[in-house]
Amino acid sequence: MKYQTALRSGLLACHICGRLSPRPTGSGSHSAQRIPAPRCPRCNAALHARLPDSVTRTWALLIAAALLYIPANLLPILHTASILGSQDDTIMSGIVYFWTTGEWPLACIVFIASILVPMLKLVTLSLLAWTTQRGSRWRPQQRTGLYRTIEKIGRWSMLDVFVITLTVALVHFQSIAMITAGPGALAFACVVVLTMLASMSFDPRLIWDTIENTGPHHE
Ligand SMILES: [Zn+2]
Repeated sequence: MKYQTALRSGLLACHICGRLSPRPTGSGSHSAQRIPAPRCPRCNAALHARLPDSVTRTWALLIAAALLYIPANLLPILHTASILGSQDDTIMSGIVYFWTTGEWPLACIVFIASILVPMLKLVTLSLLAWTTQRGSRWRPQQRTGLYRTIEKIGRWSMLDVFVITLTVALVHFQSIAMITAGPGALAFACVVVLTMLASMSFDPRLIWDTIENTGPHHE
């Protein structure tokens, strides 16, 4: 089955404003990315048929995020100093602390936002990048669905920063203590930003290119 796509109609869609523009003449369907990128007549953004080097960039950002996920979990995320002494808390010891002091909803939020969601994003995006790189025809609809879910979860990634802020505020009100963010917090913030950039770099249309190009209309 031959689908009608912008790419096949000789059109380029702007990534920013969505305007369709005709592809410059003289460039075949395969040489589109070799010539300098044309500009969108409406918003002047560079036009590409697909995000350039999408899978490579996604991999680079994912590997960086996966490496930083280790210090984010091992290094202290909060440093508390009071007249009773000082204490360093990692994400996990924070969760255990909230759980044992009966603040189990807070423990659940921190576990979901700091451990589960980043882990799921890393695994899912790696799966998407890997299957796309191999030109897999496996469950394109479900894979696109996974990508949509990742994009939806993305907006909740900052939830943990909110929890840390809340904790700092609570401690400030309840006791005479100095509470500061530890090096783990910086690593964790980098993981959040890098996974967001990784999901932005991935072009979900690549999932469908393989399927549409190896159909009856083989190129
Ligand atoms: Zn535009």
